[in-house]
This record gives sequence, structure tokens and C-alpha cells, in this order.
Amino acid sequence: MVAGHGMVGARFAEEVRRRDPEGRRVRLTVLGAEPRPAYNRVLLSTVLSGGLTAQAVQLHPPGWAARHRVDLRTGVAVTAIDRAARVVRCSDGTAVRYDELVLATGSRAWLPPLDGLDDDRVVTFRDLDDCERILALARPGARFAVLGGGLLGCEAARGLAGRGVRATVVHPAPHLMERQLDSGAGEVLAATMARLGVEVRLGFSAVAWEPDAGLRGADGELIAADALVVSAGVRAEAGLAAGAGIVVDRGVLVDDRLATSDERVHAIGDCAQHPGTPAGLVQPGWEQAAVLADLLTGTDPAARYRGTRAVTRLKARDVDLATVGDPAVLAGGDAEVLRFADPAGGRYATLALHGDRVVGGAMIGLPEAAASMIQYYDTGQPAPSDRLGLLFGRALPGAPETADPGRLPAAAVVCRCNSVTKGALVAAWRDGHTDVGALARATRATTGCGGCGDTVRGICAWLAESDPPTLSGARRSEQTALTPVPEEGAA
Ligand SMILES: Cc1cc2nc3c(=O)[nH]c(=O)nc-3n(C[C@H](O)[C@H](O)[C@H](O)COP(=O)(O)OP(=O)(O)OC[C@H]3O[C@@H](n4cnc5c(N)ncnc54)[C@H](O)[C@@H]3O)c2cc1C
Repeated sequence: MVAGHGMVGARFAEEVRRRDPEGRRVRLTVLGAEPRPAYNRVLLSTVLSGGLTAQAVQLHPPGWAARHRVDLRTGVAVTAIDRAARVVRCSDGTAVRYDELVLATGSRAWLPPLDGLDDDRVVTFRDLDDCERILALARPGARFAVLGGGLLGCEAARGLAGRGVRATVVHPAPHLMERQLDSGAGEVLAATMARLGVEVRLGFSAVAWEPDAGLRGADGELIAADALVVSAGVRAEAGLAAGAGIVVDRGVLVDDRLATSDERVHAIGDCAQHPGTPAGLVQPGWEQAAVLADLLTGTDPAARYRGTRAVTRLKARDVDLATVGDPAVLAGGDAEVLRFADPAGGRYATLALHGDRVVGGAMIGLPEAAASMIQYYDTGQPAPSDRLGLLFGRALPGAPETADPGRLPAAAVVCRCNSVTKGALVAAWRDGHTDVGALARATRATTGCGGCGDTVRGICAWLAESDPPTLSGARRSEQTALTPVPEEGAA
């Protein structure tokens, strides 16, 4: 029984059916509170900016659940867990028995304590309904305030500005994205946003939304706006577990087997709290779904989830921003910190090293340097002594090559959302998956945030030249057992 049909609950169902296609080992019931089947929430920013339609972000094609023997009930929330009876109670009055319960209830948008947020021109930015409401209000020339200058607030404001909306990001902290960026990077990001038509108000402490006026600050100043997008952070949806007496902290506490304090109840995705795992990103949730499917289908009883390294990318047109690690290391301390700032050119690079290992960093407007930073961070490969080359992604021989797909190391993670390495893409190619769509279906690369699309296309072009598919199709595998991943979600 799975509670939650979001990105991770849906992936868990898919992983179980990869291992148990006929449903001989595991019967699956999935209850989802949203009125529609799961969709790619990560791509909502792209829907908002007009790059994709709502239809294009569905995770599974229509009828997928029935075809894969999944009893999917949408629009039905789990309201309580009776652990003694091993039964969940549902919002439609039904009760469902379980042997194993998987909580994949995600997180919800947090509403700061401001007056007036019950107005119908105030919208959070978490689900497809929110997205549709924002789009209905976003006529060209409208004035929007976006409360919160974190990753999602910046993505939302950029998307709105691209639609001709006058967007102002209002942020209480002294610089944007302070959870991922140091102040220098925050300043360059703010300047870049301003060039793209987004006004940024920092250090603004909002106290009330005033309909027909705008957002009022603690000092009395009014930011005139017709609508407000609240993007002030998320909180793990852990109330169901807490109500059943399961141990909860910021999220539902889980161990390396994704078990909660009740061995029969598991938690994955945004609602789970695993030591050393960044919160609120899809990659950890998808990795957890695979591990739990291994365990609950009996495919690999030794499977364990050991955590995920944090990499964040901003998905906004004309803003190339990537960060790795904890921004606290960029403050110095025992780390060596390299830094380059070109605010006028919209470029910023900073890296923190412990000895010769990259432990943190942020790059704006420097895509090659960002790719190099991520490779060093991921692989833990020693960084070269040429610090200038390292900072700009042009390090000396021996460094992981990032610009040329042919020279990327096989272990380089190309698709972070799905943890797909270059080696896995090459293997899939050699197995007969010789275009981007086929590689996406075989490996799932490009089907998360889509940010790796260019690299996968580059690897595809490089393979077509260096390792052309045989005319006889001799390498093509007859095996098509992988669950098809719809191309719609691919970049
Ligand atoms: C606009 C936007 C952009 C994002 N961009 C990125 C990005 O670039 N990279 C990245 O890694 N992450 C990104 N994220 C975060 C990413 O979407 C989440 O990490 C991911 O969706 C987590 O998946 P989940 O299944 O755990 O939770 P969710 O996708 O939130 O799904 C949880 C589901 O459970 C349902 N549910 C809750 N309670 C119950 C209940 N009691 N009974 C039944 N169902 C219930 C909810 O309605 C929801 O449908 C973004 C998020 C947003 C909103």
C-alpha cells in the first residue's frame, strides 16, 4: 500500500513492477490525494514559463496503472493509519489493509504568518492546480509579487517575466537563495534577474497581503501587486505518520532500509528524513524508491540507501546556475575557497576545497565550469593544482573532461535526477537504443528536470560518429522489459 502518488510514489510503483511485472510477489494499491495521476512536479517551472503544457508533464501514459496491475485511486487521501490492525482509513470512507505501508506523501508549501493570505489572488507554487491558477492570473502587464527568493521563487518570477508579467521577488534575507549561495553569487543572481526584467527586493519583511493594493512591509512600505505567489519554502508532509505515533522530526525518520520506527511502515521522498540526505530534491526520492522496491519485492534483501550528494540547478531561461555541497563551506574556515566575480557579465564562480577535493561551490553564467565542478564533486577525483583552470572548468590534463562528451569518464553522472552515468548510456546505445528518445526510455536519462538533455544529445552524436549502429541491428537487444517512460517528460 502506497500513500501518495507524486513523483516518488509513482516511481516506487514503477520500480516494483520492473521487478515483479506480473504482480506475483507484490499486490500494489496506491492512494493519491491529488485528483489526477502523478506528473513531473520538477517541470512545473517550465509549464509556468510556457515551455511545456500540463499534458506533457504526465509521468505515465493513460492506462499505465491498470496495465501494470496497480490499483491506483486518485483523489483519495489517507486520513489515518491504524498500525495495530494494519489498516489505513481514507477520505472516501473506505479502509485499506496493508502488509507493508509506504509513505510517499511529499511536502507542502509553507505559508508564512502574514495577514490576508486567504485571498483568491494568493497562490502557492507546489502543484498543477497552483500552476493553472497562477497562469489564469498572469495576463501580460499584470503585477505579481513573489514572496521568497529561493530556488522556486526565482524560477517562478523568471517564468512570469517571460510571459510579460511585471514580477517582483520579495525576500527577507540579504541575498537570494541564501540556502545554496554565498552573498557574492546572490548579488550576481539578483543582477541577472534584474536584466531579465525581474525586480528584486531584498531584506524586505512582509507583514500582510492587501487585496487591490499589494504586499505591505513591516516598515509600512507597499509593493504594488495584483497577485501574490507564495514560495517561502516547504515542509515535509509527516502529519499522517506523527498521528500514528511514528517517530517524526522535520520529516518521517528512516534508516538505510527506509524503515520508520514501525518496521512495517516505510517512508521515501520529500516526506522522509534520512541522515545526510538533502531535503526537497527528487533524486534522493527516486534512489530511495529503487532501494525499497529491491527490499519489498525480495529482489535484493541487502539493498540499502546510503544518502545522496546535493547538487542544485536553477531551471530558468537565460540563467545558468548550479551549486554543490553546503554553502557554509564557502565561508572559509578550514576550506580553501576560490572565487571569481563578474557582476556586469552575469558570471560568478566559487569553489571550496578540502585538500584536493571539491566540497562545495556555485557557478553562474559559466556552464562548462559548472559541469566540471559537478564532476569533481561527484567523483571525488583529486582536483588539479592549476586552481585557475579548475575554477573556470579548463583544468590541466588528467582532469575530468566535460565539454567533450567523448572524453567524459564512464563514471560521470550525466542525469542526476535518475543517477544515470555516461557508462550506462554507452551500454544502452550498444544494446540498440541509438537515439535520444530510445536512450531516455532505456535509462530514464532526461526524464527528470531535463537539464542533461544537451549532454545526452552530445553523447548520442559522439556515439553515432565513433560507434555507429550496425545495419543488421546485430547489437539490438530483444529485451524490452524496462517499463516504458513516456517521451513527453523528456527534454
Ligand atoms: C515548481 C517546483 C520545481 C522543482 N524543481 C526541482 C528541481 O529542479 N530539482 C529537484 O530535485 N527537485 C525539484 N522540486 C522538488 C521535487 O518536485 C520534489 O522533490 C519531488 O516532487 C518529491 O516527490 P514526492 O513524491 O516525495 O512528493 P510530491 O511530488 O510532493 O508528491 C506527494 C504526493 O502525495 C500526495 N499526498 C500527500 N498526503 C497524502 C495523503 N495523506 N494521502 C494520499 N496522498 C497524499 C500529495 O498530494 C502529492 O501528490 C521542485 C518542486 C517544485 C514544486
